[in-house]
Amino acid sequence: MKLNRRLFLGSAAAASASLSAPMAMGAGHGKPRVVVVGGGAGGATAARYIAKDSKGEIDVTLIEPTRTYYTCFFSNLVIGGFRDIQSIGHSYGKMAAGGVNVVHDWATGVDRDAKTVALAGGGSVPYDKLILSPGIDFVDGAVEGWDLSTQNAMPHAYKAGSQTELLKAQIMAMPQGGTFAMVAPPNPFRCPPGPYERVSMVAHYLKNNNPTAKIIIADPKAKFSKFGLFQEGWANHYGGMIDWIGSDFGGDNVSVDAGAMTVTIDGEVTKVDACNVIPAMKAGKIAHDADVTEGNWAPVNAIDMSTKADADVYVLGDSSSQGDMPKSGFSANSQAKVCANAVRGALTGSKVFPAKFSNTCWSLIDTNDGVKVGASYEATDEKIAKVDGFISATGEGADLRKATYEESVGWYAGITADMFG
Ligand SMILES: Cc1cc2nc3c(=O)[nH]c(=O)nc-3n(C[C@H](O)[C@H](O)[C@H](O)COP(=O)(O)OP(=O)(O)OC[C@H]3O[C@@H](n4cnc5c(N)ncnc54)[C@H](O)[C@@H]3O)c2cc1C
Repeated sequence: MKLNRRLFLGSAAAASASLSAPMAMGAGHGKPRVVVVGGGAGGATAARYIAKDSKGEIDVTLIEPTRTYYTCFFSNLVIGGFRDIQSIGHSYGKMAAGGVNVVHDWATGVDRDAKTVALAGGGSVPYDKLILSPGIDFVDGAVEGWDLSTQNAMPHAYKAGSQTELLKAQIMAMPQGGTFAMVAPPNPFRCPPGPYERVSMVAHYLKNNNPTAKIIIADPKAKFSKFGLFQEGWANHYGGMIDWIGSDFGGDNVSVDAGAMTVTIDGEVTKVDACNVIPAMKAGKIAHDADVTEGNWAPVNAIDMSTKADADVYVLGDSSSQGDMPKSGFSANSQAKVCANAVRGALTGSKVFPAKFSNTCWSLIDTNDGVKVGASYEATDEKIAKVDGFISATGEGADLRKATYEESVGWYAGITADMFG
């Protein structure tokens, strides 16, 4: 019985893709049902767009445990003192008013045969199409001496909210002339410029409040995003404060001791006053539980973000393995719109537009010194493929850098309105 239904849906999906014919998804149980797990940059956008554009033709349920979503984007600016934590917190109230059934709970399992999502609070939610956008989790044992039980002593602050506030408080409590250390993650990870923008924001705070303090970065990579721009900015604004130790200098050989507050880099032990450990990352747990991952990430088809494992399960944002796009909020939002359009087309026969994606990642190095990198992308049979890109130049004038920063402020207002209504 189950098998027949799956076969029927599979062939109907193929017909829908080629003829744009509406799919008989709702037959037998009313409207077609979309369940979205994770109300962040990917999931909130997808849920909102499907509900908005289908005008009530599709039942959309969003499962998200938190009532306030703190954006990781601009969370570094909270650490630098350019924003307060409240300004990066967003509720789901407008989404519910926009027709999304918001369930504040954890998804604890996916039964792909029964097409249901289990909830921590009990019960399950049925779906015709399932969209997973659970962000990242950390790879166990990635940094020797660190695990989630030590995250209060050595915060990651790579999921925003309490971790952001904790790291900021620890930086503010550093003694004069103290040492801040960061253990940077290996590729691929969420927000390639994120650790280096964070270092800039820590340096900005220390320059004004603790000017003899030092920053050490142990990095398993030989280079990183916007490398020349950050190196130039750090020399211009924070001369001598920042010591970046890449893999060529032993930065890939690190362990920490959260009890002793020490970091050991290539055998050399340093006592530190605040330590930000950003471990290697993998897709959010529910993507692994749904068995749509291969290794750390979930491979997807570029045309609609459906998984290689199951045409009715889609993965957006950081959890996906899609090709050339960086793991960013901008990317997740862009992928969500392509996915929402394709899912709506498959369920109601509405027009499906060719998949086009874009991304820009802004970073603030110091007051009004903003830089950016970005690109546009298209779907090929193999992956999301980069079409063309741009990056800020070293040596740019102060007016252009200020305009770039202001552009990022406008983008923040735009994307959060796009996500939450
Ligand atoms: C310091 C920092 C700075 C950044 N700066 C930028 C920037 O300037 N620009 C930019 O574009 N990007 C930036 N990013 C990256 C950006 O935040 C992420 O790439 C983006 O949030 C990814 O979106 P997502 O939907 O994949 O995951 P998220 O936005 O993290 O959303 C995942 C959601 O899923 C929920 N969830 C997880 N598991 C479950 C479950 N089992 N059940 C229900 N819900 C679940 C979580 O609670 C969370 O709300 C930054 C990241 C960091 C850490």
